Amino acid sequence: MFRIRRIYDDVAPVNKLAVAQVQAILRSQFPLLREEQISMLPAALRNPLKYRFRSILFVADDSKGQVKGFAFLSHEPVLKFCFLDFISAAKKLTGRGIGGALYARVRQEAFSLKTVGLFFECLPDDPKLSPDPEVRKANAAVLRFYETYGARPIVNTAYETPLTPGGDNPPYLVFDNLGQDVPLPCQRARTIVRAVLERKYGSSCPPSYVHMVVGSFKDNPIRLRQPRYVKKKPVTAVGSSMPPDKRICLFVNDRHDIHHVRERGYVESPVRIKTILHAIEGTGLFERLPVKHFSDRYIKAVHDPRFVAYLKKVCEHVEPGKSLYPYVFPIRNSARPPKELPVRAGYYCIDTFTPLNRNAYIAAERAVDCALSAAAQVLEGRPMAYALVRPPGHHAERQAFGGFCYLNSNAIAANYLSRHGRVAILDIDYHHGNGQQDIFYDRSDVVTVSIHGRPSLAYPYFSGFADERGVGPGEGFNANFPLPERVDGKHYHDVLEKALRLLRKSKPDFLVVAFGADTAKGDPTGTWSLRAADFETNGQLIGRLRLPTLVVQEGGYNHRNLGVNVRHFLTGLWTVLCG
Ligand SMILES: [Zn+2]
Repeated sequence: MFRIRRIYDDVAPVNKLAVAQVQAILRSQFPLLREEQISMLPAALRNPLKYRFRSILFVADDSKGQVKGFAFLSHEPVLKFCFLDFISAAKKLTGRGIGGALYARVRQEAFSLKTVGLFFECLPDDPKLSPDPEVRKANAAVLRFYETYGARPIVNTAYETPLTPGGDNPPYLVFDNLGQDVPLPCQRARTIVRAVLERKYGSSCPPSYVHMVVGSFKDNPIRLRQPRYVKKKPVTAVGSSMPPDKRICLFVNDRHDIHHVRERGYVESPVRIKTILHAIEGTGLFERLPVKHFSDRYIKAVHDPRFVAYLKKVCEHVEPGKSLYPYVFPIRNSARPPKELPVRAGYYCIDTFTPLNRNAYIAAERAVDCALSAAAQVLEGRPMAYALVRPPGHHAERQAFGGFCYLNSNAIAANYLSRHGRVAILDIDYHHGNGQQDIFYDRSDVVTVSIHGRPSLAYPYFSGFADERGVGPGEGFNANFPLPERVDGKHYHDVLEKALRLLRKSKPDFLVVAFGADTAKGDPTGTWSLRAADFETNGQLIGRLRLPTLVVQEGGYNHRNLGVNVRHFLTGLWTVLCG
């Protein structure tokens, strides 16, 4: 069994392993390739346009991360074509359906990128060009394979002119129009061929050779060779459904609704999840996956174990249907927590409006499971995962709950990811992400950045100032962008760009977005006026970091636009990261 997936970078361990195996296959199967062409692979993935083509790598691997084959594709976004550089199964594994599955995926990608088609080189099956019958037979088998998809060599050109006179097996240029039956005009073909020869083979092709080959394309439109091997109609259709490796992994807290505070004015309610789910269903962008349970040592790695034990225990003791509001705050004698469980609530809480109830801990723990399951998918190499959860978490500090939050899901997930690289948490909820700031304040391996309403006007009122920059080794790794009461989309984008510039400097490997939609116009807890299109732009701007990204849902309380805004944000992010 194998799965086909796109590798966007070599950050997650499973991707690093895959890229190394691809390089090993290249070395063993393509002995003529220069070492620098092989070693540039990770850089080409991380900076897709560095080599003037956008590099796309697909691997076929099994559940143990064993790579069984790969395809390396170059996308030219301006000229709108794709060039298939390599497609190969690992040695001894050829002919097991891997090549076919990879080629189908490559076609699907080229089609979804709205290109004119796919170009690649194949060794010739003409006795004059390939005199050795054994070699010719192997070449013919490859051409036969591609012919079943309607891909055939372009004829009546000088493309197959050997670079050195007398050289044998000069390749054909093969074209697959992806079933789009649109003629390829001569001028377009010339531009494409020039781009391929100059950018791919510039070091070995002299300008005179490029000029000669480009000038030899004279048929208008260009012509493909007649089918030679396959009698029946080729399978040219490209699958229309979105491949799973392009979708956003979605984890939904399936136990969120047991936590329902029914007091009037408590805006953090179960309908929020329903609204968002309803809005994102039908986009076809999401792959909902089952939530896995994680041990509470992940929680205790971030929150004070005494606080976690207390929260769990006190919730168990609250009468079903009742809420316990903290009412005593022993701030002067912090070494002596009150003995009585209900009285002690204030010892661990930052406000008076976040009640404890029978199910608060269970629901919050499940939200953590969702965030961790999503983070695990990012480590599995997925470019983007979304934890649709409530209760939210970003106000929960190392040993305090508050602001509708009990356990800080995004911080717990970030801490988990930090074992595999540097993590940046970007909090774009309307309210300051005081939880992550507190938890990672003295650490440099998890960078925390928050854009929010300034403390003089917005909850939590006591933190989120611009001069809070971290302490000790964490100094310089926390940044706050407090903003005034009135902020529109344009103002927000400018600040977001600034925050992203700062984030880039710390060179993170993973991004966690603590995403609140309470920056929207009409939110009952905010004062700003972002609209759906602004959310989409925010998503796109963040996507340009090109990092494996985990989005954790935080606030957002205006049910009339909550779903639409979340959808726009995630779609904007997806377009850049996976589109
Ligand atoms: Zn908020």
